[in-house]
Amino acid sequence: MSDNKSVVKPTYRYEVDNLNQSSWKINKRGGSLIHDPLLNKGTGFSEQEREELGLLGLVPPKVVSIDDQVKRIQENFNRLPGPFEKYIFLEALHDRNETLYFKVLIDNLEELTPIVYTPTVGKACEHYGHIYRRARGMYFSTRNRGHFREMMNNWAQDEIDIIVVTDGSRILGLGDLGCNGMGISIGKLALYVSCAGIYPSKTLPAVLDVGTNNEELLVDPLYLGVNHRRLTGDDYYEMVDEFVTAALDKWPDALIQFEDFTNDHAFPLLEKYRHKIVCFNDDIQGTGSVALAGVLSGLRITGEKLIDQRIVFLGAGSAAIGIANMIAAGMVEEGYTVEKARERFWFIDTKGLVTNNRGDKLADHKIPFARDEEYVKALVDVVKKVKPTILMGLSGQPGSFSKEVIEELNRHVDKPLIFALSNPTSKAECTAEQAYTWTDGNGIFSSGSPFDPVNYKGKLLSPGQGNNMYIFPGVGLGASVCKSTEVTDSMFYIAAKTLAEMVTDESLDCGNLYPKLSNIREISLKIAVAVCQVAYSEGLARLEKPENLEDFVENSMFSPYYIPYSK
Ligand code: NAD
Repeated sequence: MSDNKSVVKPTYRYEVDNLNQSSWKINKRGGSLIHDPLLNKGTGFSEQEREELGLLGLVPPKVVSIDDQVKRIQENFNRLPGPFEKYIFLEALHDRNETLYFKVLIDNLEELTPIVYTPTVGKACEHYGHIYRRARGMYFSTRNRGHFREMMNNWAQDEIDIIVVTDGSRILGLGDLGCNGMGISIGKLALYVSCAGIYPSKTLPAVLDVGTNNEELLVDPLYLGVNHRRLTGDDYYEMVDEFVTAALDKWPDALIQFEDFTNDHAFPLLEKYRHKIVCFNDDIQGTGSVALAGVLSGLRITGEKLIDQRIVFLGAGSAAIGIANMIAAGMVEEGYTVEKARERFWFIDTKGLVTNNRGDKLADHKIPFARDEEYVKALVDVVKKVKPTILMGLSGQPGSFSKEVIEELNRHVDKPLIFALSNPTSKAECTAEQAYTWTDGNGIFSSGSPFDPVNYKGKLLSPGQGNNMYIFPGVGLGASVCKSTEVTDSMFYIAAKTLAEMVTDESLDCGNLYPKLSNIREISLKIAVAVCQVAYSEGLARLEKPENLEDFVENSMFSPYYIPYSK
């Protein structure tokens, strides 16, 4: 897999972009240039480019600036009736002209993220076979087993920094969507490019089509995946392994992000590969990091230490376990052992409090957190017993943080932290308004999906959104720039700390535990630099350390502008 020993010399952006020359030399012309979305500028080609590159007559006469092209996109976008139509429109732009697509996305990130990613991308995945227009990304299906490596030669790019791969088994909160999961890999990589400046040409969205157990898809004539039930057991793991081995043979520097795998596969795959290749699982580690950041910001309000917290989790899946592991790592930093840290956590799943004496066989990932104490079923009784300082909701059960639960929580602590992290907004365990009202304004609330500000007794409270996009782009950028041989939990921990430090006192005063999303490129840059520093201190970076790390990382980031071309 990756060669840990080879040292890589830093390459600067001006070398990458050829910016020390007045133009990029390209070998495409005419129609093949216009139809290459990575190079196309549409009406933005200059007079000189039109003449030199065989474009005369292929585009309307007027040369249009990228800013005026954006205006045209905005006019058409605003005319569309809803987010789903807007998603289709933006993806068509993505497929025509990537520079313009990312210019529009980066300039309007807060407005457009809910369209190119959750929640709208969820609907796009459900209907993927029906809205499919043009190939993007790579599909590796059960039909192609044994040929993945040669198939990778079909991909046009020789350098890949980030691969996002899903098996489509647990797409957002929507379950098994089979090969339609491609929408998620595409959306996540769009965020890598726009939030952290990964080069579009160096991203690869991928789907492992191991089949689907979704009956509706299996009978849908427009479904685009293989038409059988999911692979299981050794067959499944062998297919994933063929993909991982082939990808790293073809693109040895690529980071692989595992995305939206059901937790029966997510945990074993992460354990299998985390120390062998450059990979991570955002649902586990990214979620852990963004939630820890929220907790650390919250503790800036309460003035307490992390090790003094008692945390009750509703839900014991990928996200909840990922958060607990990350908070435990934070407690270890404050002097606890991992075992002592785990004593501060109580997990509740569908059967109630996760205990050793409950009488059922616990899934492997729950065993380290199972408690040796009396089994209690209801959340409210756990809250009564534990008197938690933090309540974390990762159950996908709307309304499960009931008035009774929240009032009980508020009875024992001055300022409880309430994280209703289930997505989308309709699945949140309680609303922002409920959290504030039922705690008489004492509660500090965060959610997975956005909630509007609430005016509570004359004070405007703006709940923060614990969105993974605060974390994974910066971690991916950092690990990729310094050519780390692993993505470690300490990188996710430092990412959480860096993010929490970027929250202003004014935000905290309004109850918002996260920084403004509009600063996301600066946030990703700072996280990437911190991640590189961890990689250097742990001896994982293969890149010779640049003199000025921050400048180097910043200069490695893609920005959407047209570079002049020549032949
Ligand atoms: P998962 O399927 O792995 O886990 C869900 C857990 O909830 C399981 O342990 C299940 O037993 C438990 N559960 C279900 N019904 C329950 C009930 N009635 N009472 C108690 N427990 C119950 O899913 P996941 O990946 O862990 O995601 C869980 C939720 O977290 C999803 O809604 C997802 O959208 C959200 N999430 C949010 C973020 C974020 O905000 N940044 C990130 C990742 C996941």
